[in-house]
Amino acid sequence: MSELVTWQSKMHEAMKLFVDQTVGLQDEVHTDETPLRFVRAMEEYTSGYREDAAAALQKSFEDSCGQDEMVHIYNIPIASMCAHHCAPIIGRAHFAYIPKNRVLGLSKIPRFIDVLSRRLQIQEKLCTEITGCFMQATGVTDCAVEIIAYHCCMMMRGVRTHASTTVTSSLKGAFRINQMTRNEFFSRRQELTL
Ligand SMILES: [Zn+2]
Repeated sequence: MSELVTWQSKMHEAMKLFVDQTVGLQDEVHTDETPLRFVRAMEEYTSGYREDAAAALQKSFEDSCGQDEMVHIYNIPIASMCAHHCAPIIGRAHFAYIPKNRVLGLSKIPRFIDVLSRRLQIQEKLCTEITGCFMQATGVTDCAVEIIAYHCCMMMRGVRTHASTTVTSSLKGAFRINQMTRNEFFSRRQELTL
């Protein structure tokens, strides 16, 4: 086991106190290692802060076929953490862009979205970070993302709305100003569900 850094030690202590006070000795077998597991899980949930999302987009290919139509990737998994409650946000993203001379390796798109997701997020901000990061890293001006997600902080606390999903989007360039491009993006995802 690698050594815990300061914040991890303090979190470990706090979780140990929480487990001792709430669970006591009732469920020791399952909760003995819980404080350490919790610290390690938090480290993984926030690993996106230690990675450069734009770096995942560096590799692109010269577009020899003159591709200038929309490239659309559906159902990119989103596993993030709500910045307000540190509770999971689980959903899917639909991303599209219009290439300019070069096309990206398709696997790079889920990869950079995953880096941005593994941070404390609110869904609206995650959308604008995805389009902002993509445009900055690639020079592309036309891109769009839509995220459909469950927020565990809404499902498990407060209003406890088990069935609600939250839908947010960020539209840039032609996706914002051209009605046909916008319609193409949204019409393709109408059949999609979480
Ligand atoms: Zn929340």
